[in-house]
Amino acid sequence: MSDPFKNAKQQLYNVAKVLDLNDQELEYLSEPKKFIVVSIPLKMDDGSTKMFSGFRSQFNDDRGPFKGGIRYHQNVSIPEVKALSMWMTWKCAIADIPFGGGKGGIIVNPEELSQGELERLSRGYIRAIYKDIGIDVDVPAPDVNTDGQIMAWMVDEYNTLVGRQELGVITGKPVDFGGSLGRTEATGRGGVYILEQLAKKKGMKPKDTSIAVQGFGNVGYYFALIAEELGFKVVAVSDSKGGIYKESGLNIEKVMSHKNAGGSVKDFEGAKNIEGDKILELVVDILAPAALENAINEKNVEDVKAKYIIEMANGPITPEAEEVLNENGVLVVPDVLANSGGVTVSYFEWVQNREGYYWQEDEVNEKLQKKIVDAFNQSFDEMERLKINFRAAVYALAIKKVLDSARAKGVV
Ligand code: GLU
Repeated sequence: MSDPFKNAKQQLYNVAKVLDLNDQELEYLSEPKKFIVVSIPLKMDDGSTKMFSGFRSQFNDDRGPFKGGIRYHQNVSIPEVKALSMWMTWKCAIADIPFGGGKGGIIVNPEELSQGELERLSRGYIRAIYKDIGIDVDVPAPDVNTDGQIMAWMVDEYNTLVGRQELGVITGKPVDFGGSLGRTEATGRGGVYILEQLAKKKGMKPKDTSIAVQGFGNVGYYFALIAEELGFKVVAVSDSKGGIYKESGLNIEKVMSHKNAGGSVKDFEGAKNIEGDKILELVVDILAPAALENAINEKNVEDVKAKYIIEMANGPITPEAEEVLNENGVLVVPDVLANSGGVTVSYFEWVQNREGYYWQEDEVNEKLQKKIVDAFNQSFDEMERLKINFRAAVYALAIKKVLDSARAKGVV
């Protein structure tokens, strides 16, 4: 398994030349400012106590408080959390929101916990890290396998510990408890705004544009659903158990009902089953990996046939695989831009919490669209101006912003 932090650093080194970074600057941008490791005791339903390892990586806060989600997964590791926190730094910079980058995680398979255990673990994580987070310090949010309910427990625990209501300490909350309208859909919706721009630039008509989406969690589902709503042809989706394909396009809402009933998208009426990760090898115009890191790697990259890839997951393509894609003329819209819709609406939520004044959903979506389309166009122009790939263009713009803030303070 390729090391995500090594990959994230490799991507940084690849653009260091474009930006003419010196060794000190590169070193400054290569490691988290602070990395927190905690052990969380969890009282299980059967009365026993189990220990869980949790992390929080505070990568960079030069542009504002650390910001990034908390992941619950059995494969969470220190290098993974560090990589994700580095990517959050570039993501917040390219999205032009006043945050740095952070990420957290717990090594746990949440499917093995009861609701009560999940709540106690989430509260335990906050008890372990609460002194290191805060509305102006570090602002967590959901990530893989965490959601609004978990954020609500966490904020409630935090508020109890600090003795006041500080809703903006965590974003991605339920609308009934300080959340923003549009936040749940935001990562997928932002990806579709990117998809629309890409289609415009490349002269693709939605109804003739076929899309395959790997991963049917929050991000993959809303990306597929909103793309379908706008007339794109979502021909294939998959989850960890397998995938489905229908040439004329899938009804995404029905696929979700089917998954809710049976636990997987597989065996959906009128569609063909696809095994494992074969979805990545389909003949489609656009491929959207929306699951985990390293989905497209040295082993399968030569089989990728899509002309465009929109990275809705974080780090779904290894640097080695990306070189091959570049040679094969595949345009990759990088994660830190493509999936920045989520953290952008997290920022809107944080602003609304601070003001105590809440916006209509249309207003949220409009503001999101403006931000992400601007970021896309700026990055696209930079790519053409410097004749580099899309990721390098996005990184160049983002890293420059982070360094400009660090320089203004005299840090580097
Ligand atoms: N976990 C999401 C991401 O990777 C959202 C982070 C946030 O809203 O802070 O971008």
